[in-house]
Parts: sequence; C-alpha cells; structure tokens
Amino acid sequence: MGYGLNNTKDVPVALPVGYFSQPYVRLECEVTLQSRRNTVTVSVGGVKVGSQQPVVVQSMTNTDTADPASTADQVAALARAGSQIVRVTVNNDEAAAAVPELMARLADAGVDVPIVGDFHYNGHLLLAKYPACASALAKYRINPGNVGAKRRDENFQTIVRLAVEHNKPVRIGVNWGSLDQDLLTRMMDDNARAQSPRDAKDVYMEAMLESALRSAALAEETGLRHDQIIISAKVSVVQDLVEVYRRLARRCDYPLHLGLTEAGLGSKGIIASTAGLSILLAEGIGDTIRVSLTPKPGGDRTEEVYVAQQVLQSLGLRSFAPQVTACPGCGRTTSTFFQHMAEDIQTYLREQMPVWRGRYPGVEELKVAVMGCVVNGPGESKHANIGISLPGTFEEPKAPVYVDGALRTTLKGDTIVPEFLEILENYVAQRYGA
Ligand code: SF4
Repeated sequence: MGYGLNNTKDVPVALPVGYFSQPYVRLECEVTLQSRRNTVTVSVGGVKVGSQQPVVVQSMTNTDTADPASTADQVAALARAGSQIVRVTVNNDEAAAAVPELMARLADAGVDVPIVGDFHYNGHLLLAKYPACASALAKYRINPGNVGAKRRDENFQTIVRLAVEHNKPVRIGVNWGSLDQDLLTRMMDDNARAQSPRDAKDVYMEAMLESALRSAALAEETGLRHDQIIISAKVSVVQDLVEVYRRLARRCDYPLHLGLTEAGLGSKGIIASTAGLSILLAEGIGDTIRVSLTPKPGGDRTEEVYVAQQVLQSLGLRSFAPQVTACPGCGRTTSTFFQHMAEDIQTYLREQMPVWRGRYPGVEELKVAVMGCVVNGPGESKHANIGISLPGTFEEPKAPVYVDGALRTTLKGDTIVPEFLEILENYVAQRYGA
C-alpha cells in the first residue's frame, strides 16, 4: 500500500458556498424477490439443499482427480473460499481409485466439505468396481445423455442402485450439449408429424425436461427416495437457461441446481452467469448454484466461488463477506489512489474473513464505502458502517471518515490507508466481538 494523499493534486480551488452541506438525497427502491419455489430437501453429505435452506454455493475442480495431492489442495482452496460442496471428475480407474486418498488428505487438512463425483459413460462400472470411492463420495452426478447409447436405462439404473446401496443422493444433470439423442430424435420426429409443429428449439427444451424428469422417475422406480434427487438442465445461452428452468420449476419439486454451462472467459462468463442466475433466483427458482468460468491459464479457481457468492449477496439472498461500495471514479478523481485503496480494502476484508467469520458473527453484513471525492462521498459514507471520501482532483488533501453516519475523523498524508484499516478493525472488534 505504498501510496498516500500526496499522490493527489492538492491544488486549492474555490468551491461554491454550501458545497459540502448540500443535502444528499438517497432514493430507496425496494425490489421484492419472489419467495422460493417449494422443494423437498436433499442432504448432500450433511449440506442441506432445498427451498427451506439458504441457496448453496458449489464449485468444481479442474485438477486431475488421479492426482489426489493437487486435487486436495484445490478442493481445500475452494472450500476455504466458501464453496459448500465441491465436485470432482471421476472419469477413469485412476481417478476412482484416488478418491479415498483425496478424502484422507482433506481430513488431515481439516477440510470437511462434501465431495461429489462427476460421472460420464463409465459411472456404472467405476462405482461398482471401486466401492471405497462410491462410499466416500457424498453424491453422484449422472448425465442421462452420457450413460451409454445401447444400455442407457440399464446403466443408469446400475448407478442408481449403487446410490441406494450407499445411501447417496444423485444429481440428474442434463446438458444441452449431450442430450439423449434417441429421445431427441423421437421427439423431433413426433413434432414433424404434428399438425402444428413447434419451433425446433422448443422441442429441444422439452426434450431436456423429458430426459431429466423421466430419469428422475426411473431413479425413484429403482429405489432412490424422492428426497435424494437434485436436477439440473444446463444450457449456454442465458435466455434458454431462464426458459428451461422456469418450465422445470413448474413441473417438479426436486431441488434445482442452477448454472450456465460453458459460460466463458473473464467478464463474459461472469456477466452471462450473473444475468441468468439472477433472473431465476429473483423468481425464487434455484437451490444450489455453480458459476462455470473458464479460468485463465494458471488462474485462480476460487473466482467461481466468489462470483456465486456475490450474485447471492447482491440479490440480498445471503451474506458472505463485508461489502465495499466504491464509486466508479470520474474526471473529478484523476489519481489512482482511490482505486488502489478500494481494491486493498476489498482484499484486506476478504483475507480477514476466514478468521473473522468465527470470531465476529455477523461481520459479513458490514458495509464499507470508499469514494473518490466529496460530491457523493460523505453521503454514501453515511449509509455505510464505515466510509471514507478521498479528495478528488483540486480538492483539499483530506479524507473525512464516517462511522455509523457520523464524522469520526479526517485523515491526511501517507498513512491514510493503515489508519483507516485500524479504525475499521477497531469497529469490527467492538461491534461484532461481543
Ligand atoms: S464520488 Fe466523485 S469521483 Fe466518484 S464518481 Fe462521484 S463525482 Fe466522480
């Protein structure tokens, strides 16, 4: 944090009389979220998923599961970031054989997070051949489109029987890109013969729903309980995601796992996921979410957890970490001081959370404002628990700090950031320590 107020242009300028005392008007707009759609509750290794529970954040590793050391490291990082469930690929003998060691490593590291196995094509073989893997996993993900073309139902039922035997729930995860082709062809043919054929996309969506719901019915016929099934129907286009989940929500009371598949890189992936998930969550649809971001090479996998949490916190559905309100900056603040400060405070808060979460219950509700000048700064600061308004270009190099709506002090010079963090720490200890 090697920067200070000296980085700003502290050229005095004549301001209009009353400039600092102009009333700050805040327009409150209440957005009402619809209540959650009613579902049964499914326990995934002790984490409850369903409408009676907060929406669960989950994630998936991208390590080779056959390498239990690196997979355990990534699972631990995801869990520490707040992922309540973590999914791993189980794609071959080596991966299935490594799952017990993965669990042992996590236990040694004190990481207690349910691990879900993601199976395609050979799940029926791997789960039968590696009972220790079947027993260690908290849930099996089955894609009905990827359980084998010739013996689809038979293979599907084999996995379900193993789930029953090990008392595990399953997620029936239908995917746009790997839909049951026999079912799709049959439905397309029926549609072509209909008097008023529907749009092909509409039939595609119906085929996804049919695949998911028919598989769920078959799972129950095979012995799985109704409250051991979660459903997902992932697509890669936001409008389609919303449509397919709205239809799914009307037709069943299984908990729904939301996620945009192949969301993409960087801001595109984040924004597309946020757009799709937010519409559905605001309508009360969705019981667990995963944000599928394509990481940059060597990028941090925990990004997907933070994005999922931020979606839920922005909608007011859950609180995970203190929020920093920062103005976007404009021509009134031309130094980078305020950008650095906002970022440093956000990073600082995130780094404190693993300890603060246990020590200071409720601290995730804390609101901090970091504003670039005094136009909106004091007003926004008053609405936060703690707020600072940095001096804009040509403003006096002073930074008023508001605590619970009242001016506490005015900071100056190079030590403004550590001094502000000290005020912040004392506030957190006093307010949430008791
Ligand atoms: S608070 Fe000041 S610097 Fe920030 S956007 Fe508003 S006018 Fe610009």
